[in-house]
Amino acid sequence: MRIGRREFVRAAAGLIALPSPRPPSPRLILLGTGGGPSPKRLRSAPAQLILVGDDAYVVDCGNGVARQMARAGVGLARIRAVFITHHHSDHNADYGNLMLMGWIDGLRPTVDAYGPPPLARLTALIEEVNRVDIETRIADEGRPPFSGLVKPHEITTDGVVMQTAGVRVTAALVDHPPIRPAFAYRFDTPSRSIVISGDTAPSKSLIALATDADVLVHEVLYVPAVERVAGNERQAARLREHLLASHTPSTEVGRVAAAAGVKTLVLSHFVPGDDPSITDEMWAAGARAHFKGRIVVGRDLMVL
Ligand SMILES: [Zn+2]
Ligand SMILES: [Zn+2]
Repeated sequence: MRIGRREFVRAAAGLIALPSPRPPSPRLILLGTGGGPSPKRLRSAPAQLILVGDDAYVVDCGNGVARQMARAGVGLARIRAVFITHHHSDHNADYGNLMLMGWIDGLRPTVDAYGPPPLARLTALIEEVNRVDIETRIADEGRPPFSGLVKPHEITTDGVVMQTAGVRVTAALVDHPPIRPAFAYRFDTPSRSIVISGDTAPSKSLIALATDADVLVHEVLYVPAVERVAGNERQAARLREHLLASHTPSTEVGRVAAAAGVKTLVLSHFVPGDDPSITDEMWAAGARAHFKGRIVVGRDLMVL
């Protein structure tokens, strides 16, 4: 994030928190912060990057995730694992494309992919739907095989899903009806803990997962705008019902962060994600009512 005079003044007034000048390790990069599948002018689709040394871990693969990694200056070949929170298209649409672009950019086997079923089938289909391109590039450009590049691990319940020397990843089921299972993920390293909520209504299991974490990235919904968002759709009533039952209002997200006792709350997956009339102060105000820690209103490519 570039810190301009406006950000500085707002930070001094306690309205927003500025990132520390030298980001701690592991680094968290918000690749995409706009909730919902429609492409947006202001925010890319949901995706986060956690960098542990040279290793890159991607959480969610919304549309444009590969491009956002390029803009963040992180080569796709560094991806060691991918985590999908749930199978709404704003979170998985570019899973296959990220692996395909990564293959072109020198991704080394094996990349582990974690997420709910049908992750194995989605992974198998990457090669099938891209067969012409893959076979052509192997024959024409001498590329290595795509087969075996990505190893899917389907998860259906809480618990530790990945453990290496440097990082442990734990999943927890969250409340995002009608999608079941939907997960949040917690990354623990010796120096820092980072939790990504995925999509969820206020969730006790997420509070348990995020207890005492350094950073909680949590989705957020601006309820006064729901009428506007839903109103533009033909299925307005059902969309409104879905948004309110399966997401977390800005007035509630602070309670979650406070109950978990996290140090920093990062708002992301903004719904609506393309409405500049909802200012950072408006997003943060609801959270601040219940949470006294640091609040960051996320933006694409912010490094934390
Ligand atoms: Zn979503
Ligand atoms: Zn969702």
